[in-house]
Amino acid sequence: MADRNDSLFAHAREVIPGGVNSPVRAYGAVGGTPRFLQSARGAYVTDAAGREYVDLVASWGPALLGHAHPEVVEAVRDAAGRGLSFGAPTEGEVELADLVAERVQAGGRRPIDRVRLVSTGTEATMTAIRLARGVTGRDLLVKFAGNYHGHSDGLLAEAGSGVATLALPGSAGVPAPIAAQTLVLPYGDLDAVREAFADRGDRIAAIIVEAAPANMGVVAPAPGYNAALVEIAHAAGALVILDEVLTGFRVHPAGHWGLEVSRGEAYEPDIFTFGKVIGGGMPLAALGARAEIMDRLAPVGPVYQAGTLSGNPLSVAAGLATLRLATPEVYARVDAAAATVADALSAALAAEGVVHAVSRAGSLFSPVFAAEAPTDYASAQAQEAWRYRPFFHAMLDAGVSLPPSVFEAWFLTAAHDETALGRVVDALPAAARAAAAA
Ligand code: PMP
Repeated sequence: MADRNDSLFAHAREVIPGGVNSPVRAYGAVGGTPRFLQSARGAYVTDAAGREYVDLVASWGPALLGHAHPEVVEAVRDAAGRGLSFGAPTEGEVELADLVAERVQAGGRRPIDRVRLVSTGTEATMTAIRLARGVTGRDLLVKFAGNYHGHSDGLLAEAGSGVATLALPGSAGVPAPIAAQTLVLPYGDLDAVREAFADRGDRIAAIIVEAAPANMGVVAPAPGYNAALVEIAHAAGALVILDEVLTGFRVHPAGHWGLEVSRGEAYEPDIFTFGKVIGGGMPLAALGARAEIMDRLAPVGPVYQAGTLSGNPLSVAAGLATLRLATPEVYARVDAAAATVADALSAALAAEGVVHAVSRAGSLFSPVFAAEAPTDYASAQAQEAWRYRPFFHAMLDAGVSLPPSVFEAWFLTAAHDETALGRVVDALPAAARAAAAA
C-alpha cells in the first residue's frame, strides 16, 4: 500500500539524484522505499507516514545518548539564540578542544595536544592526509580495502560503506594520477604492509586505518594490529592516521584507541580523526595530534586548511553537551544494550539454522551470513549477503529500523531501554525465519 514515504520518494527522485543526499539511504541493497523521517526521540524515529520504529542506525553513529537528548537540544537552542555562525573564534571551540585532548588519554599517554575542528569526517581525514604529506614531504598513502574514510578523491579506492554496498571498485571522476597515490592493501595482513614499506617506504607519507573497521560490516582488529602498523610506519619515517570518525567517543570514553590501550596495548598513532559523536548529531568533526604535527597547519605552518562553518557554534554546543553527558555509565549502558541485541540476533538466527556470525568490536556489531566473522574485505564479501534483504524488511515491518546494508554496523544508544530492546528482541525470530527462507 502506497503511503507518504512512497509519494515523497517518487518526488525526491525527480529533484535529488536517487532521491537521497547520501547513497546508502536509498535502500539500494535491500530494495523498497526508504523511510522519510520526520522526527526522532530517544531510541525511536518516526517516518513521514507517522509510523514509529526502534532505531538501530542512530544517524549512523552520532546519537550515542539517543536522539534529541533534552540537554543537547537545549544547548543547541541556547546557542542558536546567540547567533548561527560567526566566522570568528569562540570560547566553546576552546572548551571542546580541551575536552577532546583530556578524554583521549590512556595508559599514561596523552597523544593529542591540539585539535582542529572541521564540519565532516571527510574533511577530517582529507586534512589529516594533507598534514601527513606536509610533515613528511612524501606523497604516497597506504589504505586498506574495505576501510571507508569519507569521499575525498584519494580515499575511494576499494572503500567500504556505500562503495561496498554498491560493489564499486572506486569512483568515476577520480583522476588516475590521484588514485595512483593511494596503495590499497588487504586489511589485517601485516606482511603486505611490510612489503609495501620494503618497496616504497621512503615515499610513503602515512597509513590511514579505521581504528576498528565498521564500513565493511564490523571487523575487529586483531590484538596488536594497530600497534604493529605504528611500528612499521615509524621505522620508515611515516605517520599513522587513526580514523576514529565512527569509533571515537562511541566505543569507549577515549575511543577505540582508548579501549585497546586500556586492555594493555601500548601504541600511539600520530593523527586522530573524529566525527559523528563529537558533534552530537550536528555537522562537526575534528583532527587532533601532538603540537609538533598540528602546528604545521595554517596559520602557524604551511599546510592549508580552512572552513566558513568550521567550529560552528551550534555544532560545538551539541558536541560539548554530548561529550559532557557521555559518562562511563553511558558507555556501560550502550555496551549492555549492544550485547543484548547481538546475543538475541545470534540466538534467533541459530534457532532457524541460519549459518551466521555476529562480528563485534566494542559496542559495534553487525550480522554476517557466513560461519566466521570476517577478518578483511574479501571475507566480508564472501557471505550470503542476499539473506539480509528479507531479514531487514521483516524487522522494518515489525517496527525496527536497521542499517539498509549488511556492510554497516548496528548502533545502540543509551536511550535503548528495556521496552525498546524488547521490541527488537521480539522482532528477531520472524526476521531470522525470513533470512532462512531466502
Ligand atoms: N571515516 C569513517 C571511519 C567513517 O565511518 C566515515 C563516515 N561513515 C567517515 C570517515 C566520513 O565521515 P563523513 O560522512 O562525516 O564525511
